[in-house]
Amino acid sequence: MRFSSCTKEIEISSIRKAFEGAGPDAVNLGIGQPDFDTPAHIKEAAIKAIEKGMTGYTPNCGYPDLQKAVSEKFKRENDVDYLPSEIMVTSGASEALFLAISALVDKGEEVLMGDPSFLAYKALTHLVGGKPVGIPLNEDLRMSPQAVEERITPKTKAIVICSPSNPTGAVQTKEEVKAIAEIASDRGVTVISDEVYEHFLYEGEHVSPARFADDVITINAVSKTYSMTGWRLGYLGAKGDALDQLLKVHQYIQACASSISQAAALAALTGPQDCVKAMRDEFKVRRDILATGFKEMGVDLKVPQGAFYLFPKAGNGDLAASSLANAGVIVVPGSAFGPGGKEHFRLSYTASRDKIEEALRRMRGIL
Ligand code: PLP
Repeated sequence: MRFSSCTKEIEISSIRKAFEGAGPDAVNLGIGQPDFDTPAHIKEAAIKAIEKGMTGYTPNCGYPDLQKAVSEKFKRENDVDYLPSEIMVTSGASEALFLAISALVDKGEEVLMGDPSFLAYKALTHLVGGKPVGIPLNEDLRMSPQAVEERITPKTKAIVICSPSNPTGAVQTKEEVKAIAEIASDRGVTVISDEVYEHFLYEGEHVSPARFADDVITINAVSKTYSMTGWRLGYLGAKGDALDQLLKVHQYIQACASSISQAAALAALTGPQDCVKAMRDEFKVRRDILATGFKEMGVDLKVPQGAFYLFPKAGNGDLAASSLANAGVIVVPGSAFGPGGKEHFRLSYTASRDKIEEALRRMRGIL
């Protein structure tokens, strides 16, 4: 087969490579998904949906009651007004990112993103023939409005903001988010705001850029918030008639998100939220155990305010990751997320406290 050059240009996620060769006793701190089960009331809603025969296609943009619940969620939690008709339900945030990038970017146009940032932004930009442009992060691992402004060119079509961030866990301040949203708006650049980690916040505040500008596609998912990564259910909000364009892509690649998962997501968004708090509290304890351990070892770490990742500096991140793998701790080299990450490695605290303590024991003497 003669594959397209856009496809050939993309590499398979190097996160997978980090797991290869891991021994059976290795502590895996490489995975980016919560280690909790989906809360029972959410699973019940899905079971009921199956029993009620909700097994056909749904409207392309999702069930109207879910669109309404998402619209209310945006208002309640993010202080952003999206009408239910401005909401599209997608197969995870992953699909929403693809919709946004493919609907916006023409061949040769540029997409700004943090360097380092979540791998999909770069790969999806390549996939549509666009050009990813990395924005170096400041020493607190955040994107500064000035660095953004300096990299906008006439070819810039979109900028991806991810706060709290994967891989750094850093949280942009309200002033930064506002400034970036306003700069983008002034220059005709669409903000794609990836907010999947919004609820994993231990200090600081999560601020949606859509509060400050209209030219924003806000992307979120139930994946991380409710420990539902396998349910493949995300959503986006976009103002005005943006959905008309986004819908064309969604309609032909996906038709609609899973009907069963939509019923589950409705229960997640409208039901009790104490499960989210319980997960956040547990992640904070784990983050603090690791941060204290690293401090004792003298590891250079900016303790992040959010997500469930730490991004310590280790001189040569690739070398650190392979030494740690040899010692039985799987982490991801920071270079996997862009050249700006090469001195770092990423670890996820999505493993039990016992496993984290064990990982710290193994890391002593190596870092
Ligand atoms: N955005 C970020 C920053 C992520 O880290 C991930 C998954 O790791 C996703 C989006 C994808 O989310 P989903 O599982 O909902 O497709």
